[in-house]
Formats: sequence, C-alpha cells, structure tokens
Amino acid sequence: MTDVPPDEAFARTLDEQDPLRGYRDRFHIPCRPNGEPVLYFCGNSLGLQPKAARAIVEQELEDWATLGVDAHFRGKTPWYSYHEVFRETGARLVGARPGEVVMMNGLTTNLHLMMVSFYRPTTTRFRVLMESPAFPSDIYAIRTHVRTRGYDPDEAVITLRPRDGEHTLRTEDVEAALAEHGDSIALVLIGGVNFFTGQVMDMARITDAGHAQGCLVGFDLAHAAGNIPLALHDWNVDFACWCSYKYLNSGPGGIAGCFVHERHATNVELPRYGGWWGNDPSTRFRMHLNEEFVPKPDADAWQLSNPPILAMAPLQASMAIFDEVGMDRLRAKSQRLTPYLRALIEREPREWFEIITPRAPDASGCQLSILVHDRPRERFAALEAAGVVGDFREPNVIRVAPVPLYNSFHDVWRFVRVLAELK
Ligand SMILES: *Cc1c(COP(=O)(O)O)cnc(C)c1O
Repeated sequence: MTDVPPDEAFARTLDEQDPLRGYRDRFHIPCRPNGEPVLYFCGNSLGLQPKAARAIVEQELEDWATLGVDAHFRGKTPWYSYHEVFRETGARLVGARPGEVVMMNGLTTNLHLMMVSFYRPTTTRFRVLMESPAFPSDIYAIRTHVRTRGYDPDEAVITLRPRDGEHTLRTEDVEAALAEHGDSIALVLIGGVNFFTGQVMDMARITDAGHAQGCLVGFDLAHAAGNIPLALHDWNVDFACWCSYKYLNSGPGGIAGCFVHERHATNVELPRYGGWWGNDPSTRFRMHLNEEFVPKPDADAWQLSNPPILAMAPLQASMAIFDEVGMDRLRAKSQRLTPYLRALIEREPREWFEIITPRAPDASGCQLSILVHDRPRERFAALEAAGVVGDFREPNVIRVAPVPLYNSFHDVWRFVRVLAELK
C-alpha cells in the first residue's frame, strides 16, 4: 500500500471488502458527548468491551448468589477448575501446546514468578539482557528482582539501545551483544513487540542466539499477544508473560498469561514459589496432612492462589472471538489496516512528525508510533478534542493502534483527516 487513493469512498470500499467487518458489532464502542462513536485507537492500551462479556460476568454473580460455595463444583463454569477454560484457547493464541499456558495474576507479578525459576545466576553468569526503551514496570521488575537475589542492577542488567540516530533495535545488534557478553548473561528478557515503537522483534532469532550462548530467553508479550501470530513452542522460547487487557480485551486489570515451555513445565525439580493452586490437584486438599509441595507437571504449577473468577470471566468472551476468527485472519486484516494508515499519513506534508515504527511487514503489528517534533502535547490534545482516543508517551510520541477486530478502514481515514488538519 504505497500509493493509496486518499478519498473517503476508497475507505468505504475497503470496509465493504473486509471479511471481518462484522466483528465491530460485537464490541461496545465508546461515544463522545455528541453521541458519535469515538475514533478508538487505544486497543494496545485497553481493549474494548466485548458485548458478550456482561452476561458471562453476570452468570458468575448469579452462581455466587444462588449457589454460594457450591459454585466451585456446580456453577455453570465450575470455579474450581476455571483456569482450565483457557488451557486450549490460551495455547492456540500464542502457538503453544496445552499445558504450556496458564492465565494467572498480573503481568508484572508473573515476570517476577518467571524470574524466580528462570533467572538462575552463578558467580560468572549473573546478567540480564534487556532492551531500551522498555516499559517501566519491566525495568522496575528486573532491577528489583536482581537486587533481591544479591546483585547490583547497575552491574547485572545490560540494556540494549537503538543505534545513534535510529529508533528501533536491530536484531543483529542483539546477536552481537550476546556474542560479546553471552557467557555472563543468565537471562535474556525482552519485549516481543516494543511498547514505545511498536517494533516486532525477531523472537525466533533472538531465542536461538541466546540459547547458543547458554542463556535462558523469555519475552514480555504485553503488546504481542492478540496482535501478531506467535509460535512460542516452536521458537523454543523458555517462558513468556503477557497481560490480557490490551489486545485481548479482558477489561481493566484483567488476568495475565504465562507460557512455560514444555521442557521446563514438566520439570518438577525447578525452583519456584509454591501455592496451593500449583500443587497437584489430587493432593491439593490434603492441606496440612501433606507439607511437601508437589508441583503439577505443567504451567499450572506456577499458580499460587485460587483463580479470581470475576477477573477471568470477561476474558472468556474475548477468547471465544479470537478462536472464531483465528490470529491468521486477524493478522491478514491488520497487515492491510495499519499500512493503509501509514500510507495515508505519509501523503501529508510531514515536517512536524515522523513515524518511528518499522515499515517492514514482519517488523510491525497494529501500532504506529508517531514522533512529533513540534508541540507534541498540544497536537495530541487537539486530536483528543476531535474525538480521537490514542495515547501519548513522554516526551513526544503519539501511539495509535487500529485493531482489526473493531477498527474500520473508515476509522483510519477519519483519523488521518483530523491529523492532517492540525495546525
Ligand atoms: C502494559 C504493560 C505492562 C503492564 O504491567 P501490569 O503488571 O499488567 O500492570 C508491563 N509491561 C509491558 C511491556 C506492558 O506493555
């Protein structure tokens, strides 16, 4: 899509030809005070509510009201095994095998739990390789985690930055850093899709490069899950964590996901924190009679507490949609929708901004990050006033993410009209 017609009729035609156009109606689109739907480009931050979510949440409230504690076994979806609802569908989403994925906790909590098991420092190999810019929570998690294990983060954390004058990280630079420092690196922990630039990393190559140096390799998939197809099992990734309230539309603070590769998940000897929900269900309720923690030989073993039903319920609605559509069809639409956005933006005179998201189709997902050179805050405020919901990242980046499940080509066209008219 290098040279697209700029007219509204072309946007309408693209929508008519879009086989996924009907899915927009399965979501609530927020409205402006004048009743018009907003231009929602913030699904990379908080996905919209699937209309089916309410009935599922109400069902849980109903089961609680009418069954009380008995809903653990007699509820419509028994609470006792609620996390198993996502066993297959969660695995399909990220290219995993059933038993490699569990939905639990929040993303940052899961990063810590994964580091307990997969950051195994020794006197010579104690470093963590991460990227910059990284999401603040990941920086805090890695630095504080390393400190609790007795290392100085300034020494133990290696941060990879884009080259001078560039905005995104080159895979060959990740490989070069691993070749240079690999024997002192215990863990590589990088965002699969960068939150700031929208860059999709080559996870298969980075995993291979890390393994070749004897490192373990994990990914933060907050911006990848539900955005791009993943093949975590085949890529041989050691572990991964993601949240579900962004592209996965589970609602604010929704339950997070965790992948542990089968070769680790079945290893009951791995060090980890234990809790009753990670214990083998057949002995879980022996409680005080059994003091030894017996991990279930799959990813479920990293669960600590019983699952938060009300946080998990809305995710069922969204995962049913992902299963119905499939990541391949979503990606196919996304690879038309986002390039259309880019092409329309690039028709405009652009002294005051540049797109920093990579152009290569396999290095970008839904999101485009627009770096604004001149009056960034003022321009973002003007977009908001015109009904655009995007977000602003300090100091000067506006992120917009057309989401193939509910954004239309016409949304994109309207957004670029608003952008083009900014003074
Ligand atoms: C959104 C996001 C988080 C958020 O962490 P929570 O624990 O879910 O609050 C963390 N890391 C990255 C990379 C993110 O994009």
